[in-house]
Amino acid sequence: MKTGTPPFWKTKSLEQMTPEEWESLCDGCGNCCLEKFEDSESGEIRVFPVACEYLDVTTGRCMVYEARTRVNSDCLSLTVETIKEIHWLPETCAYRLLAEGKDLPWWHPLVSGRSKTVHEAGISVRDRVLPGSFVHPEDLRKKGRKKTRHSIKRRIVARKRLKEGDLDPGP
Ligand code: SF4
Repeated sequence: MKTGTPPFWKTKSLEQMTPEEWESLCDGCGNCCLEKFEDSESGEIRVFPVACEYLDVTTGRCMVYEARTRVNSDCLSLTVETIKEIHWLPETCAYRLLAEGKDLPWWHPLVSGRSKTVHEAGISVRDRVLPGSFVHPEDLRKKGRKKTRHSIKRRIVARKRLKEGDLDPGP
């Protein structure tokens, strides 16, 4: 980027961005890939410290990104339209920040120029969550009748039925 040239996220709307620009907004925090409960009555979202089984919890990246919707039939795409409907994206998510008219923070790789700053700032899931492969799906599923689990990976939204009280959602 030339000095003095405003970065694309300051001059373009989400709708105007190229696919490459859109993808580069993802900071790799991995927070949208954590298992979640939605209370079917109150709508409250509770996040569990367990990642989607396809998330690399060290890098914060999906291990099957290109094939994610085929590999996991629960995954849906995050788009300009769905961002408006998803109220549980992390407050730090670049897509949410820009959709709300805010700027990217200092630790975002596009701002810092380094992918590691999202980890150094303590924003990512690294060292904070269990890999999904460590938790048997039945442990998440077997009590799931009243709750809905959500898991999203950048352009992914996943929903599965769960039952309340299976896992401690943590802080
Ligand atoms: S889509 Fe948002 S919450 Fe998910 S990994 Fe990317 S920046 Fe993080």
